[in-house]
Parts: sequence; structure tokens; C-alpha cells
Amino acid sequence: MRAKTKMIHGGITGDEQTGAVSVPIYQVSTYKQESAGNHGGYEYSRTGNPTRHALETVIADLENGEAGFAFGSGMAAITSVMMLLHADDHVIMTDDVYGGSYRLMTSVLNRFKLDHNYVDTSYPEKVEASIQENTKAIFIETPTNPLLKVTDLSKIAQIAKEHELLLIVDNTFATPYWQQPLDHGADIVLHSATKYIGGHSDVVSGLVAVNSAKLAEDLHFIQNSVGAVLGPQDSWLLMRGIKTLALRMEAIEANTKKIVEFLQNHDLVSNIYYPGLTSHPGHDIAVNQATGFGGMLSFDVGSAERADKVLGNVEYFTLAESLGAVESLISVPAKMTHASIPRERRQELGITDGLIRLSVGIEDADDLIEDLQKALD
Ligand SMILES: *Cc1c(COP(=O)(O)O)cnc(C)c1O
Repeated sequence: MRAKTKMIHGGITGDEQTGAVSVPIYQVSTYKQESAGNHGGYEYSRTGNPTRHALETVIADLENGEAGFAFGSGMAAITSVMMLLHADDHVIMTDDVYGGSYRLMTSVLNRFKLDHNYVDTSYPEKVEASIQENTKAIFIETPTNPLLKVTDLSKIAQIAKEHELLLIVDNTFATPYWQQPLDHGADIVLHSATKYIGGHSDVVSGLVAVNSAKLAEDLHFIQNSVGAVLGPQDSWLLMRGIKTLALRMEAIEANTKKIVEFLQNHDLVSNIYYPGLTSHPGHDIAVNQATGFGGMLSFDVGSAERADKVLGNVEYFTLAESLGAVESLISVPAKMTHASIPRERRQELGITDGLIRLSVGIEDADDLIEDLQKALD
């Protein structure tokens, strides 16, 4: 089954009992047992719920995984995946990882002695050089947020295999429509499904797919023990979102290409970060491992004051955190999504005060360009 067809026919479709074409919302916490311990596959909805299960089956299909898991947020998914590790283990992480992942590792999981360090994973040799005796996992985000740095998944997977490390990939930006990390050798792929997979700014959720029966068993144990599960209504909303994921991604990317062209010709814009540009250092790798470049881009207008002016003068770009929705969003990472990262470290990473991030939506590209033109002028 090809990607577009999978979005429609992957996982569990409809309802066998009634013929309903859409999976019903099983708004239920517990299930009747025929005799003690003898049940029809469901006993309690933290452990398993039919609507959530249908969603978990779709994400496993979309990512070519062995099993899927749905959580109450992207961070709940990442936390639960990290729970596969132990105290005194060490994780190598992409250096401009999502701010929430940075905070989780630096201010929460450090208290449980889960050790980590940050590496520019777009250089595989730097990853290899930072492997310690207690390193157990590599956590990659590609492309990254907000600088769209690209990591070569196959190269990192090779390093992970040689050293018997778990390779975990945050695939939020690329989506399973453009990129399937498990096919490149990752063990675990995860998403903030709040973003493109949901796609309509109406649900907070996280999805995971794993590549082996052992990881499936281990992660289900964690999911059931920790309990950060997604509810049935939100599971249903995500399945509805997935039906149009392919269409949305195609429309978003077409708009993004036009906006990038416009920005390239504007005097006020210095750096443009977009993997679709041949000048982008990760362009060739992106072409190799993904079928599209997505709808996220960042550009520099030189100062916080200018960035503020642009943000204050756009009409169709909504000033908001988050990304990946049908409506276009605009943000200043230094003040918003990446504010939890100390300024000094932001500067090191290149997240300047004048950096503007766009999440392009599916409006008419000409309206979006006119809007940016006005705001920049
Ligand atoms: C938003 C985001 C997360 C966190 O997901 P939530 O659903 O907000 O908890 C993790 N990784 C990336 C790349 C994100 O953009």
C-alpha cells in the first residue's frame, strides 16, 4: 500500500459490528468480563481502548512499525519512551532539540539520574565521539526546530547498531507522510501529533511506533504503568486528521516553496533555513531520506525590534506557539518556543532574537505572500 492509500485504509477502518465507516468513539473505562480474567481483549481503558487501539494501529502502519502507542501529548510520549531507560544511563541528544525535550532532560529526568548530552547530530562523527560507557540511546530530531538542521538517519543508525544503542527519532516536523525513520534503521519513532498529524489546532497528543515485538511489549508495560494515555475522543480526532495528512502536506509544501522564493528576494531577510534550498547544508541528506521538505522555515530579520514589527503587522499568520496546522502560524523562537533555553545557549545554536519561524498552512499562497510583504515593508 502506498503512503496516500495508507492514510485512508491503514490500521483498523470502520466498525465490524455495525458497518460504520468511521471507527466509533468508545467512551468507556471498563469492560464486562465473561468470567474473572476472561475478557474480549479489553479490560480497562488505561491498558487498552478500542478507539485508541485503532489509532495505534494506524501509526504503526504509517511508520512501518511493529506496534503503535498513543499518549496524552508529545511530551508524554517522549517521557514514556525515556522510561525505557534506567538511572545512570546516558542519552545523546540533538543539540537544537525541541525546548520541551530539553527541559524534560535537563530539569526533570536529571533528578532520576538519567544522564544526557547535546551534540550537533548533523555530524555523525560527533555522535560517535560522544558515546560513553553508559550510553544507551541516541535521540534525534530531524529536521530540527527552528533551524531545520538535518541528520543522516542511516549513518546514525549504523553507529547505534555498532554500539548497541537504541535509536529514537522525533519525526514531528517531517511526518510519516514524508519520512519513515524505522526504514532507515531507527528503533523508535515518535511524534507530537498535536502538530501535522492532528493538523487542525484542536488536539494535544503524542504517537510512537516501535520496530520490534520486544520494544512493543516494553513500551506497553510503561504506557500502562505510567498511564499517560490518550482519551478516545482525541484518538478519534487524530484518525480524522490522518485521513487528510497527505493532502495537507502536499498543499503546505507547495505554499512553502512559493514563500521561500519570495523571502529569497527580500532585502530585509538575511538567512533562510529551509531544507528544500539547495544551499541548505542538509539538502542532499533530506532528498535521500525524505520525500518532501515540509512546511517549516525560519528566517532572520536582524533584530528583535524588526521581528516584533513583522509579527505585529501580519494578518493571516497567527502569532502562536505550535506548528503544523491548516492555518499559518508565525513565532519568534527566542521569546516563545525556545524561551526555556538560556539566551547564551540560544546564541550558540544560532537562535537569534531576530529569527522568525513560520509554519505554513493551506491558505492561498498569494495571500500569505502579500501579508508577509506588507509586514516586512
Ligand atoms: C511540540 C513538539 C513536541 C512536544 O509535543 P506536545 O504535543 O506539545 O507535548 C515534541 N517535539 C517536537 C519536535 C515538537 O514540535
